[in-house]
Parts: sequence; structure tokens; C-alpha cells
Amino acid sequence: MKTHVKALVVGGGAVGASIAYHLARAGWSDVMLLERDELTSGSTWHAAGLLPLFNMSYATTHIHKYSVDFYKTLEEETGLNAGFSVVGNLRMAQTQDRMDEYMLYASTAETCDVPYEWMTPAQIKDRWPLVRTEDLKGAIYHPTDGYINPADVTMAMAKGARQRGVIVERKWQVDGYEWTGSEWKVTCTKMVEKGGNLVPSEEQVVITAEHVVTATGNHAQRTARMLGIKIPAIPVEHQFIVTEPDPALVEYRKNGGAEHPVLRDADAKWYVREERGGWILGPYERNAPARFAYGVPDSFRADLFPLDLERIEEEYMSMIHRIPSTEEVGLKDDFNGPICYTPDGNPLVGPAPGLRNMWLAEGFSFGITAAGGTGYYLAQMMVEGEAEIDMASLDPKRYGSWMTTEYAARKNEEAYEHVFILHHPDEEREACRPLRTSPAYDRQAARGAQFGAVNGWERPNYYAPEGFDDHAARSFRRGGWWQHAVEEARAIRDGVGLIDATAFTKHVVKGPGTTQFLDWFTCNKLPKVGRINLTYALTDVGTTRTEYTIVRLGEDEYYLVSAGAWTAYDADCLRKAAADKAGEFGYIEIQDVTTQWGVFAIAGPKSRDVLKEVIKDANPDTALSNKRFPWLSARQIELGMCPVNAIRVAYTGELGWELHHPIEMQNYLFDLLEQAGEKHGMKLVGARAQNWLRQEKSYRAFGTELGRDATPLEADLPRFVDLSKDFHGKAAMEATGIRAKCCTLLIDGPEDADPWGREALYLEDGTRIGRLTSGGYSVAFEKSIGMGYVRPDLAVEGQKLKVRMFDRLWDATVTCDSPYDPKNETIRKDG
Ligand SMILES: Cc1cc2nc3c(=O)[nH]c(=O)nc-3n(C[C@H](O)[C@H](O)[C@H](O)COP(=O)(O)OP(=O)(O)OC[C@H]3O[C@@H](n4cnc5c(N)ncnc54)[C@H](O)[C@@H]3O)c2cc1C
Repeated sequence: MKTHVKALVVGGGAVGASIAYHLARAGWSDVMLLERDELTSGSTWHAAGLLPLFNMSYATTHIHKYSVDFYKTLEEETGLNAGFSVVGNLRMAQTQDRMDEYMLYASTAETCDVPYEWMTPAQIKDRWPLVRTEDLKGAIYHPTDGYINPADVTMAMAKGARQRGVIVERKWQVDGYEWTGSEWKVTCTKMVEKGGNLVPSEEQVVITAEHVVTATGNHAQRTARMLGIKIPAIPVEHQFIVTEPDPALVEYRKNGGAEHPVLRDADAKWYVREERGGWILGPYERNAPARFAYGVPDSFRADLFPLDLERIEEEYMSMIHRIPSTEEVGLKDDFNGPICYTPDGNPLVGPAPGLRNMWLAEGFSFGITAAGGTGYYLAQMMVEGEAEIDMASLDPKRYGSWMTTEYAARKNEEAYEHVFILHHPDEEREACRPLRTSPAYDRQAARGAQFGAVNGWERPNYYAPEGFDDHAARSFRRGGWWQHAVEEARAIRDGVGLIDATAFTKHVVKGPGTTQFLDWFTCNKLPKVGRINLTYALTDVGTTRTEYTIVRLGEDEYYLVSAGAWTAYDADCLRKAAADKAGEFGYIEIQDVTTQWGVFAIAGPKSRDVLKEVIKDANPDTALSNKRFPWLSARQIELGMCPVNAIRVAYTGELGWELHHPIEMQNYLFDLLEQAGEKHGMKLVGARAQNWLRQEKSYRAFGTELGRDATPLEADLPRFVDLSKDFHGKAAMEATGIRAKCCTLLIDGPEDADPWGREALYLEDGTRIGRLTSGGYSVAFEKSIGMGYVRPDLAVEGQKLKVRMFDRLWDATVTCDSPYDPKNETIRKDG
């Protein structure tokens, strides 16, 4: 057996097979795939094989689209038929809300070149007369997908991998990982059959590998323990049943009727497809339990759980309603298997936290659909440094060390149950909340805060009167919360507002090597002591890895503020880069101080007046003046008895300060500010209003405009890139050029809706030229606003474009950068 390879892929399910195949196809000649049992013996063998293109996420839509196209090519390459039945996919809607969801999705589909068609109930009935349609509003139809045989497609990928030189070894279990500093030593045990069980033998080998990828499916918890990391991938039970042949279906097909597409009655929470004259029903029911939270028992091989028919009774009855001929049809078979989930339902794909050359591909709930694309994009990340799409939404480090087994299990059950809920863009999921709360949480709740969760933190989205039901306020259009956000945004533009920004990620970086390190790590000039800069850390390929507000506290001491959702991700990148460079630059200390510092952002023309009421200073009248506290500077101030590191920046683009304070004094500071603000009409403001306001200033956000698929120059931020110095990713950034450019648009959209930042952009003649990455409402211009990427020649002020919203294209105009207060006069106002 070969004992030294460039890349070792652990796990021979659909995902592992695809990764091995794509690594070889991307040019790595020395790849090995290890499987503890037989290929496909994990969840892959019992999957129903559906390949739904439908997905609300941009990255995942790309991944699914790649798979569907790729699987069609496998037979020609390998000679193996993967059993792809391209019957199409019909997603039915019982309500207008559901149609709205499909229309929002359709815009994302257009940005990813996924073909779709609309169907009326009459058209459905015409084509598939067995389907009851009188209570439907319509359907979206994907003609290019369908279902595949999961084992066959895995075998085809494994064969393709072998043909490209990959070694596939079965019955070898990975039992330990050790990093030597330059490669992994992977201890593998030969597994043998004993009385129907698979048990470890005495035979062991150690394989050294430069890179390891784990794709261990339901065994992710064991993998996590071996690696000493957390992986929130825990399976949930998922059942499907197979019926006896349905005489009506058999007759219909005998008379030349076309095979039914995979049918989805999303409002009834199930999919149905034909299977040998009968039907497969796959429900996503309530109360499906998480399993194997602490590992898969040795006795569980290619096994199943007992069917729980009671749990899926509601979905079963609704199938009978939708396809009345199924009423008389008996059950033939059932499958209840483990299906891996993660708290947000997205798999975990990318570098493992804290480890070198260790890649995770875990937590797949649509793993047959996602396998192809995951292999393709992960291979790009490993071989080229980054994928061509931004994989951040799948990054394993989106959960921090606060995540626990109990949290993952309960959230994964929720993610399963939510597969068919209405995917409102303003949705907030309820399970395991509140969990991470800042001290002012109770006070904010008492004042009507409607919270959202960011990286587990509770953060006010907006404030509403007592008794307000956030759940009922959700919509694909302007939800019930919209008016409250408008009032909050206006308060900041016209008066003063207070935003809780405690969730921000905060790092202190200090030590003799720090200045040189940060100068290399980020692309903008470092600020002088007491000053602030906005800057970016780049990836190896020159795209944006992280955005930082960087405050220079001392010659060699810096305070870095970055997005709240990305604490573990930012900490990991910083630590790895600093460890790499400490030898060259000197000692660099990195402290994650996120949970030690609370943050309130006070903003608006009257913000200085409020602060003046409570600031303790020999001369309170001038303490906040432009002379003593200029824009883009930081000062240690005292507000009442609270020491505050105040930073003169405002993400809303209004006169304002961020007040970073010791978290244990947060309630004191909150009360103090609230009292002082009363006479100035200060309003508590949530994240939704802030998100709109920052778009009026063209402030890019990480995860939307800023990501690993665009350079800071493509984000049109040359003023924050110091080309006179050398920095990580510079040459790659320059070599990339400008493929697309970020711009801000004002939109004459529908009266009852704003864009969400997923919409496709067009020229007047219907040519697609880009997409929105953010969207919302502008109180300054009293119309919809958005930011996005377009062909570079079109990112010019005054350019007329069209935005797809719902069923038509709406007028949009590219504005100048920062359409509100382009000269930053209000921000710099003296007083
Ligand atoms: C009833 C049911 C229906 C489903 N239907 C669909 C569907 O229609 N469409 C769809 O896209 N998805 C479907 N799924 C989900 C799909 O089955 C999974 O997402 C997919 O199979 C995951 O593939 P994987 O390669 O990640 O994991 P697995 O197939 O579980 O493979 C992981 C492999 O890793 C091996 N392994 C683990 N640890 C080690 C180790 N230490 N050393 C060596 N080998 C190891 C395991 O033996 C296993 O073979 C369904 C799931 C269920 C339960």
C-alpha cells in the first residue's frame, strides 16, 4: 500500500469520490481515497437521488448547477451510466407568498444561468393529469434536473478518479491524525468482517500526506475528536417511503404519458417521484430527531432506523390530496436513514479551523446534489488558492468555539424541519435562542427589540411596539417591520440613533513584529497612533479575505474591528498568518477580545449633543470637536463613570462615534446614554436600518460586496489600497484586473417591495450584465437602493440598467459612489 501521497481524501461517499476525482482533474497526480467500509456505504447508498437545482444561496446554486451539468458527462468519460433521469423538477406553490419565494429564487437562478420555466395550474394539469391543481397558484419548473442513482454516480466518479491516477483503498479506517509541521501522519487500520460487523484488525499503516480532506459523513463527530476541533455536523433521521405500483400511474404511462418530474409540494413539505410504477414520498416532517451526536456506533453500518409512519402522517395525507390515485396504493418499502445537517443547513467546506493543510467537506444534507460542485470548487481552493465563487457561506469557521454538541443537535433538527418553510430573506430561526446575549439584551427587549442572531449573538434587527409579532411581519416584499426600520433610518439622518454593535469581531494585535506584519497583511497604509484606517486582508489570489477597521493604539499595538459573523474565521486567518511571519518580523501577539468589549454606535446630526451631556472632560464642550477628536481618529474618553475607547467612524455615514466599552459596564452606559438622549429624541436603531443607511453611502459589507471572489479594486475601493507598498496578495490582485465592478444603484421598483441583494441586473435590451449583492430602501432618496457587480464599463454614474424583481424588470440607475453626502460633509461636521 502506498504510504506517501500529496492528498488523502477520507471517506468514500459521493462527496469524497467527487473531491478525489476533481483533485486529480485539477492536476494533482498523487491522490488517495480511503474508505473504512465499501464505497457508498454511508448515507450515499440510501439517498433518493434527487438533484434539486433550487436553492436560495448564490454559492450553493452554483455548486448544484455544476453537479447537474457534470453528472451528465460522466458516462462518456467513464463508460458507467450514473442513472441520471432528467425528468425535470416541478415545485408547486399553494400561496402567493410561495410564488414570491420562487420569484426571488428565479432571480438568483438567472445570475447562475440556471434555466427555469413558470407553469400555471392549468398547464400542470394538462401535462400531468394525476396531479390535483385546483388549490395551486402555480409552479416553477426546472427542465434540466431530475434524479440519479446515488451509488452509480459515486462509482462513476470513483472510476473517473482511478482513470486519472487516484488510488482508492477500501476497508481502511483512519484512526488518528498527527501534524508534523510540514505534513500529516495519518494512522489507518485495516477493517475486517466479523460476524456481520466491521471491526478493526491488528494491521495498521501510517500514511503521510501533504493535504488531508475529510468527507466522513455521519462520522464527522469522530473526525472532530481526532482532529481536536468542533464540527457541527450531526445527522438527523430522514425517511422516505416507496409505494406499490399505482394503477392510475401505470395506465397513464402505458398511454404514452411523460414521466412526472420530481414533484415538490413545498407548502406540504414533501417531494414525490415515480419509482417503477409507484411513488417515492420524501417528507421533511416535524420532530425528526438528531442521531449519533457523540459518534456512530460500530454496529451501525449500511443500516437504517425503523420507519416512524406516525411522524409523517400529515405529509402522507397531503400526498393523497395532491395525487388522489395514491389513496388506494399500499406501501412497498421504507428508508429511514441518517442525513447529515449543520445548524444553518449548509455544508462545511474549506480549511479546518486552527489546522494546516486540513480541509473539511462535512455536513451534507443534499450531498448527492452537492457532491459534484463541492469537488470542483474545493479542488480549486486547494490547488489554486481560492475558488472562482466565494465559498465563505460554506466556510467551516462560521461557527466559533461557543458552539456545542447540544446546540448543533437542536439547530440541525430545526434546519431539517425548515427545508420546506418559506425562505423569507428576513427570516430569523428560533431554536437555541437566546444564547449569546450582551448585558443590554433585557433592556433592549423591554424596549421592543426584535432580535436576529449573528454568529449566535442576539442583535436588535429593529424595534417595534409591544405585542408585535416578528414572525407574522416576514415577507418577500416589504414586511410588517419595514415602517419601523424607515423611522429608525430617518432618526439617524435627521436626529440621533443608538445601535448595538457588540457582535463586532475585535482583535488586539501587538508586539514588536506587529507593525511590519500588519503592513504586509493588509493593503492600506497603516494609521498613525490614535488614528483609524479602513483596510483589507487579501487572499493568496488577491481577493478580499477580511475587511478591518484598524485603530492604532500605540507604536506596536493595534485594535482590529471586523464583521460580527466572522470571529472564528478572522481569528484563524490572523493567527495562521502571524505564525507564518513571526520568524521574519518578530513576536506578534493576537488576542480575540470580542466578548470583552461591548459596542454602541451613536450616530446622527445630534449625536455630539447627546455625548456632550455625559462626557467627563476638563472642557466637555470641545472634547468632541473636530480639533480634539477629528474624523477617523480614536480617543479614550469617559462617559459618566464608563471608560470608553471612542472611534469617530459611523457605518451609517452620519456624524457619529463607535463607543467600545468594557462589557461589564454596558448596562450602566446604556442607561446613561438613554437618559441623555431623551431630550434629543434619540431612537434605538436596529441592524436593518443600518444596512439601508450604509448603502446610501456605498459602504461595502463583508459577505455581500466584499468576498473571496472579488479584489478590493473590483469592489472599486482603490482609495483603500496603497499600491506604493508591498502586501500579501498584491501581485495576484493586479494580475486579476477588473472582471466586474461594484457600484450603487437607485431603483424604481415595485411600490411594495425592495430588492434583497440577490437580484439579476440587465441592460435595457435584456442582456444580463451583473447582480445585486445588497438591497434595501433609501430614506434619503425615498426609493429602493442596491449595490452589486456589473460589467466594468457599465459601472458609471448615470448608466441605466434593469433589475429583475418578481415577474418583471424595473428601472435602475447607477449613482456616484456614496449618493448620500458624497463629500462626507455631515460626517465631518464640527461642533
Ligand atoms: C433517506 C435519505 C434520502 C436522501 N435523499 C437525498 C437526495 O435525494 N438527494 C441528495 O442530494 N441527498 C439525499 N440524501 C442525503 C445524502 O444521502 C447525503 O447528503 C450524502 O450521501 C452525503 O455524502 P457524503 O459523501 O458526505 O457522506 P457518506 O455517504 O455518509 O460517506 C462518508 C463515508 O466516509 C466513510 N468514513 C467515515 N469515517 C471514516 C474514517 N475514519 N476512515 C475511513 N472512512 C471513513 C464512511 O464509511 C462513509 O462511507 C438523503 C439522505 C437520506 C438519509
